[in-house]
Amino acid sequence: MLIVKKFGGTSVGDKERINRVADRCIADYKEGHDVVVVLSAMGKSTDELIAKAKDINPNPPKRELDMLVSVGEQISVSLMAMAMAAKEVAAVSLNAFQVAMHTTQAYTNARLTSIDADRIRAELEARKIVIVTGFQGVDKADNVTTLGRGGSDTTAVALAAALKADKCEIFTDVDGVYTADPRIVKNARKLDVISYDEMLELASLGAGVLHNRSVEMAKKYGVELVVRSSLNFNEGTVVKEDTKMEKMLVSGVACDKNVARIAVIGLQDQPGVAFKLFNHLANHNINVDVILQSIGRDGTKDISFTVAADAVDEALAVMENHRQTSLICEKIDVERNIAKVSVVGAGMTSNAGVAAKMFEALYDAGINIKMISTSEIKISVLIDAAFADGAMNAIHAKFIG
Ligand code: ASP
Ligand code: MG
Repeated sequence: MLIVKKFGGTSVGDKERINRVADRCIADYKEGHDVVVVLSAMGKSTDELIAKAKDINPNPPKRELDMLVSVGEQISVSLMAMAMAAKEVAAVSLNAFQVAMHTTQAYTNARLTSIDADRIRAELEARKIVIVTGFQGVDKADNVTTLGRGGSDTTAVALAAALKADKCEIFTDVDGVYTADPRIVKNARKLDVISYDEMLELASLGAGVLHNRSVEMAKKYGVELVVRSSLNFNEGTVVKEDTKMEKMLVSGVACDKNVARIAVIGLQDQPGVAFKLFNHLANHNINVDVILQSIGRDGTKDISFTVAADAVDEALAVMENHRQTSLICEKIDVERNIAKVSVVGAGMTSNAGVAAKMFEALYDAGINIKMISTSEIKISVLIDAAFADGAMNAIHAKFIG
C-alpha cells in the first residue's frame, strides 16, 4: 500500500513530537508499505517568520515573503529525516524544487499546476520513507511560492492524487471533524464520515481543520481522506463522496469571525452599478462573499457585501479611488466585527423547516441577524462578532443537541 501521511505544525512542534511522528511512520513502513510524509513548519514558526519579515518591512515583497516562510517546512522535513536516520530507517527529505512541484506565480497564494512524481517514486523504490515539504512550490521561473496559510493539506492531497496513493491521512491535534468547534461548543461530537461538499463548506466557513483547496482537490481526484489525531490512535473522520445512508439533516455548525461588512449607500439605481463595483474589487483579487441589494427608492439603491476582515482596508481604498467616476454614491459604511455563522448539511435542501429553526434559535438567544444567505447545503447568517459563540451554541443545541 502507498500511504501519504500529513502532519501539522503542532504535531511536529518539538523533539518528542517529531520522534513520535517518526515512530508512527516507521510502523507503517515496517509493515511493508510505501510511506510519503508531508510536514508543515514546526509549531508557530510560520507566524514567527512572517513577524520577522514585517519587522524589517511592514509591507514585504511577496516573493521574498515566500522565500522566507518556505524555510519553516524545510526545517521540519530535514529534522524528521534525521530522527528517522537515528532510528536506523532510510529516509530522505525533499523540498518542492526537488520534487518538482509546480505552481502558478501568485506568491503567498499559489495554485499547484503539476507534480512530477518520478523522484518520489524512485526514492520509494529504493525503500526510503520520503518526507516532503508541505505548503511550498516553484513557479515556472524557479521562484519559490507558497500555497496560502494552511496549504500543507493541499500538498498532501495533491501528492496522494499524483502518486495514486491508497490512503491519505491528515494528522492534526484534534480527533477529526466535529459538528462544531469543540473549544466553543461543549457538546460538539466527532463525525465518522462527512461528504466532500459538506467538508468544503465547513472548511471555507472557518472550521479550520482542513485547507479548503485540499478538499476541492480531494473531490476532484476522488482522494478519500482521513482526518485524525497525531496524539492518539482514534479512528478519525473519513471525508469522501456523499453517501446518502449516513446522511444527517445538519452535519455541522461553523463560524467565521474574520468578516467585515461594507455598505455602499445611495448608489444610482441603474444597470451596470453592481458590475462596476464588484469588477473593481475583482481586479484587485478581493473576494466578496454575501451580497445584499436593497430595493431601489427615489432613483437610488444600497448594496452591502462582506469581505474577509484583513481585506477590508484594501477594498475601501479601491472603492475610494473610483468615488468620483464609476462609483458615485452618498456614503460607504464599514462594520469590522462581524461573524458568519452557518449550518451545513447535505440533507437540508428538501427540508423546509431548517431556516426557520435556525432563526428561532437566534431569536431565543436574543441575537439580531444582519444578513442572511442560503445555498443548497448551507444557511448562513451574519451577526455581531461578540455574539458568535452564543449563536453557535444556540444553533448547535437546536439541531444536534
Ligand atoms: N506552515 C504553513 C502555515 O502555517 C502551512 C501549513 O501549516 O499548512 O500556514
Ligand atoms: Mg492546518
